[in-house]
Amino acid sequence: MSNSSTSIADTFTYDYIIAGAGGAGLSLLHYLMNAPSLSEKSILVIDKSFNKTNDRTWCFWEKDTIIFNDLVVKHWETISIQATNFKKELPTTPYSYKMIQGIDFYNFILTAAKQNSNIHWRETTVLNLVPINLLSKEEGAKVEWEGGEAIGKYVFSSILPFQMNQLASAAAFSKSLHSFDAVNKYQTPFLWQHFKGRVVQYDQPVFNVKVATLMDFNVPQFGATAFMYQLPLNDKEALVEYTLFSDTILKNNEYDQVLDNYLNTHFPELTYTVLHEEIGAIPMTQIALSMYEAPIYSIGALGAAVKASTGYAFQFIQEQCKNIVMQLEKNKPIETKVHTTRHQFYDAVLLHILFYHKMEGAEIFKRIFAKNKAVTVFKFLSNTSSILEDIQIMRSLPTRIFLPAALRVFFGSR
Ligand SMILES: Cc1cc2nc3c(=O)[nH]c(=O)nc-3n(C[C@H](O)[C@H](O)[C@H](O)COP(=O)(O)OP(=O)(O)OC[C@H]3O[C@@H](n4cnc5c(N)ncnc54)[C@H](O)[C@@H]3O)c2cc1C
Repeated sequence: MSNSSTSIADTFTYDYIIAGAGGAGLSLLHYLMNAPSLSEKSILVIDKSFNKTNDRTWCFWEKDTIIFNDLVVKHWETISIQATNFKKELPTTPYSYKMIQGIDFYNFILTAAKQNSNIHWRETTVLNLVPINLLSKEEGAKVEWEGGEAIGKYVFSSILPFQMNQLASAAAFSKSLHSFDAVNKYQTPFLWQHFKGRVVQYDQPVFNVKVATLMDFNVPQFGATAFMYQLPLNDKEALVEYTLFSDTILKNNEYDQVLDNYLNTHFPELTYTVLHEEIGAIPMTQIALSMYEAPIYSIGALGAAVKASTGYAFQFIQEQCKNIVMQLEKNKPIETKVHTTRHQFYDAVLLHILFYHKMEGAEIFKRIFAKNKAVTVFKFLSNTSSILEDIQIMRSLPTRIFLPAALRVFFGSR
């Protein structure tokens, strides 16, 4: 860390500033700490609170054991999809569907980073990020907070203009995006994946621990795509999450009502204890959420790591952060894009079909899982499928739905 020679008094310069220490900020920090050629770099990590709680459960699938394997608390090799008159269990091998608790992830990285004297910490709310030209002609960007600022040669931000676990502000943000979008002739779809989950505990065995229910569409749809997500931790405990893809967010008690009914219907006359709750909203869109330019780089949800058609982001964040560190090590220009253009096109088509209600979400996912192996779907959703596999997935949908949507996305019309 060196004191900058600019006119900005008391402004320190760091090699890297990480603004926002959540899923993406801490992943980036983890890969930076593990890059030997960058071990001398000074890093400032800023977050409005380092007092982390278990605010989210991250699930993802992978073939090998690459991503934070020691933190995986549970994994499943069978998934289930259910809809009206439909139930299918699919083996996932060679993939496993894995779960990491947010708090384990935060503690693991923060504990390691606190041992490192090159890493500096600032608990504050970031107000502004501004590119500057240092008097020394070095490029950099200034990060401002109340009563202070710092300069980073590179600044990596994951700070969204709203908080994903504060639904009211997410809803307000969505509204402002929609008014922006109203003047956008392409009407780029924007949906929220919003949800409330409970970790419930029964005093007798009720869950099949071997099967993760990715989607059970036998729940109120609210004119949207809605499903129950059920991940058994053991035969008495499970995360049960009511999830919707829609443009409006529900009231807290609306999620609760559906969760109450679901649990009471599936396990009648049995009482349960709620061990934990999580609530959130993830943007499903290809609208750019950030306009920053080098040397400010957007990462995580802000940096388009969320897969627009599914809301999954964790494994893409890992890919994005690993790539950034590789580029820094090789002194190459930073590229944060993680989704291939081909897969972005499929995401746009699926999002178009969902957003404009061209086909019920339940029907889309039912068809995709009914006609394909889990491994093919996982590859497709991880952007690693071949063109032949893509065609196979797309053929699961009726041509009369898929083709017009694909043409409309391709030609940029409604
Ligand atoms: C409840 C929940 C469950 C999810 N589950 C999954 C899942 O199972 N699988 C999956 O693939 N994806 C999942 N996601 C989506 C995605 O993986 C996560 O949202 C992920 O945390 C995104 O990482 P991020 O760094 O972009 O945002 P965050 O993790 O939200 O990090 C942003 C950080 O910025 C800080 N911050 C915000 N504003 C300021 C400010 N002004 N100043 C300073 N600091 C600030 C916050 O405190 C936070 O630490 C989930 C999301 C949520 C909300």
